Amino acid sequence: MADLKLTDVAKTYGNAVNVLNDINLDIETGELIVFVGPSGCGKSTLLRMIAGLETISGGELLIDGERMNDVPPAQRGIAMVFQSYALYPHMTVRDNMAFALKLAKKTPKEIDDAVNHAARVLQLEDYLDRLPKALSGGQRQRVAIGRSIVRDPKVYLFDEPLSNLDASLRVATRIEIAQLKESMPNSTMIYVTHDQVEAMTLASRIVVLANKGIAQVGTPLELYERPENEFVAQFIGSPAMNLLPGKITKTGSQTEVSLDGGGTVLSDVPTTDAQAGLGVNVGVRPEDMVPTESDPYVFEGRVNIVEALGEVTQLYFEPVSKDAAPVIAKLAGIHQGLRGQSLRLAAPAAKTHLFAQGRSLLYPV
Ligand code: ADP
Repeated sequence: MADLKLTDVAKTYGNAVNVLNDINLDIETGELIVFVGPSGCGKSTLLRMIAGLETISGGELLIDGERMNDVPPAQRGIAMVFQSYALYPHMTVRDNMAFALKLAKKTPKEIDDAVNHAARVLQLEDYLDRLPKALSGGQRQRVAIGRSIVRDPKVYLFDEPLSNLDASLRVATRIEIAQLKESMPNSTMIYVTHDQVEAMTLASRIVVLANKGIAQVGTPLELYERPENEFVAQFIGSPAMNLLPGKITKTGSQTEVSLDGGGTVLSDVPTTDAQAGLGVNVGVRPEDMVPTESDPYVFEGRVNIVEALGEVTQLYFEPVSKDAAPVIAKLAGIHQGLRGQSLRLAAPAAKTHLFAQGRSLLYPV
């Protein structure tokens, strides 16, 4: 049980390599916070600063109100689970889990109770006497998690714990982690991943890191439905949100935009008179686009590539210019014979986002 407060946290490696700045974040007891972001954005660095494995170059980290900047890792009440689970190969599951407690000079009864509890939570009771080599990858990762549970930490830190597992095991272990979290509602967890699905399915809140800082913090659906900026809009959701340039032609409780590539769209994002004529990017998710014959439409183009995935069909349109990303539409179900066809697509006003200079008009500057 613990809450964390990060205030203006920054990291510079050596004297020169500035990786993170102005990290301000409040994490409440019982949350499962996921850090996501492109490779190299500083996710692991931030996690390692919380763990005490990296120094904090600026700002302050509080755990339960206590300043942690200079507290050694072992005294922070934190347990960390890494992607390489690094179990001791010559020790049984039971001994692997008990190891840290023996070092901490716990009594045999305390150790037994803790190991049995962790084994029960992780459904490892039948495997306690096995060596790691006789376990699947997912089971080994569970033992690694068990090693942290026995220590009853205030905060669990997970650094890409599933990335060494193959696709089907990843899904199974992801669900196990979700169940584990449910069985420990008061434990605070911070989880680093580059996998969007893990972030969306596990997180109580997601922290998107980019450009040395936090791009947005919110629940998974807040990030999906109300991205604050184009980066988050395109990072969350797959394929990424389409962005189409245009100009505001009518302001009010609904906004009308005339698109540079033809067509007009209506958005439920409200605008003021002062925003009339403003250049914007209209953001529409591929899954929100539907073929239409009439106005208003968001895009008109020729289908270049069709990806039939069964449950959905993804259409890639001919790019409007050489450097423009192709517009993508994701239609439910199977659609045949669309390659080479010209289509008009519309999107509901409620799902039409507006960005100016990279920022969503939904959020005041
Ligand atoms: P992520 O986990 O998001 O992929 P990291 O936190 O590992 O990113 O790294 C963030 C940035 O910090 C990267 O540009 C990386 O090259 C740099 N970095 C990481 N560790 C060190 C180090 N020990 N010395 C210098 N730069 C480092």
